[in-house]
Amino acid sequence: MDESGAAGGLGEQALSASVLVLNRHYAAVRIVPARRAFVLLYRGRAEAIDQEEGQYVSLDFDGWLRFTDRQLAGPPDHQLFVRTPRRSILVPRVIRLVRYEKVPRNDVKYNRRNVLVRDDHHCQYCGRRFPVSRLSIDHVVPKSRGGGSTWTNVVTACNDCNTRKGGRLPQEASMRLIREPRAPRRNPFVDHQLDSGRYRIWRDFLRDGERALDA
Ligand SMILES: [Zn+2]
Repeated sequence: MDESGAAGGLGEQALSASVLVLNRHYAAVRIVPARRAFVLLYRGRAEAIDQEEGQYVSLDFDGWLRFTDRQLAGPPDHQLFVRTPRRSILVPRVIRLVRYEKVPRNDVKYNRRNVLVRDDHHCQYCGRRFPVSRLSIDHVVPKSRGGGSTWTNVVTACNDCNTRKGGRLPQEASMRLIREPRAPRRNPFVDHQLDSGRYRIWRDFLRDGERALDA
């Protein structure tokens, strides 16, 4: 495997899977795609953490390959694998940076994806749920009137509602917000992942205040 993480023919989806990154003191730092986690693991900058027979284990790259072989023999427990020409490798769910000390920031990063997830992909005007491709970010107070790109001034809007509202305030367009936009206390993306079987293991490493991770 090289810098790109990439022997040929690996599953794109598995390589994009989320991996929780801890610092050397086991504090959650951020979430990275598996592709990045593999590079860190391969270079010895991180170890993979998982459970085996009810115990947590920390494994370097070679240890992780052996762990993979043991997992392949057993029932697949929410596991994902990438396949290289020579072998399959288990995608880790948690890695620990063996030298990294920094403590993470604790606010949810403002970006389009996190706004859509905060609003659960529902248009905040008509209340309907849409695929990402049909949603946009609406500035409640339009940018042209000094409205900022901040958690409290942006909402998810479907393309139709956004067009209808145009450069107006909601009341000028006779439109109403379903709820007031707020800054999320926790990263909605992380909360979402915690609900899935695959990422239940993250709960052991995330205290409430640490769910505001960059992802
Ligand atoms: Zn709408």
